[in-house]
Amino acid sequence: MSSREGKLFVISAPSGAGKTTLCNMLRDEFPGIAYSVSYTTRPPRPDETHGTQYYFVPKETFEEKIASGDFLEYAVVHENYYGTSGNEVKKNLAGGKNILLDIDPQGAMQLKGKFDRGVYIFIMPPSIDTLRRRLTLRNNTRESIEIRLANAAGEIAYKNRYDYIIVNDALEHAYAELSDIYRREENK
Ligand code: ADP
Ligand code: 5GP
Repeated sequence: MSSREGKLFVISAPSGAGKTTLCNMLRDEFPGIAYSVSYTTRPPRPDETHGTQYYFVPKETFEEKIASGDFLEYAVVHENYYGTSGNEVKKNLAGGKNILLDIDPQGAMQLKGKFDRGVYIFIMPPSIDTLRRRLTLRNNTRESIEIRLANAAGEIAYKNRYDYIIVNDALEHAYAELSDIYRREENK
């Protein structure tokens, strides 16, 4: 056990802004960082597997976990439940490991105030047109794209409550900002 607690890194963005891409780059460069795999009731996309991107569970299972107090935070996002396992986060922080959470602003705001050592980062798309293009690239159904675009403005409205805002225009620039923030914050 490390004597120093780990730090929570919370990343939010409208769906399609590039947060998974940026989080994966960060995890590649800093393999010591833990990643919180969330629970969700949405169905997996063709390239997703249970336990890697998410734990995909039925609504009844999710609601049982809510009742048991298993979630550190949870929210309904784009018409499905999403939640963060309290045990996974607490175990990593207590063991001195930093942990990365990719969660929506409702969830991020539930965590703010609960953690002294939390860093909150918001990823912005360069424009709504670009967001639409990226969502289309990712193999979503038309309906799920429209739901995500309709929710984007509401999510962006939270951006000033984060510690950092990164605009994901050129990927290498956005990533350079993210990795600088990580380096700076992990040593604070
Ligand atoms: P999110 O996790 O925020 O929903 P993803 O990381 O899945 O978004 O990115 C959505 C799509 O946009 C993916 O196809 C990804 O490769 C692409 N993408 C991400 N960042 C950029 C960028 N800076 N420039 C161009 N395409 C990008
Ligand atoms: P997607 O279905 O596109 O993977 O993700 C939809 C949204 O759910 C994203 O904004 C993502 O950050 C958010 N999300 C993923 N996991 C969690 C979680 O555990 N809690 C909350 N509140 N949001 C989450």
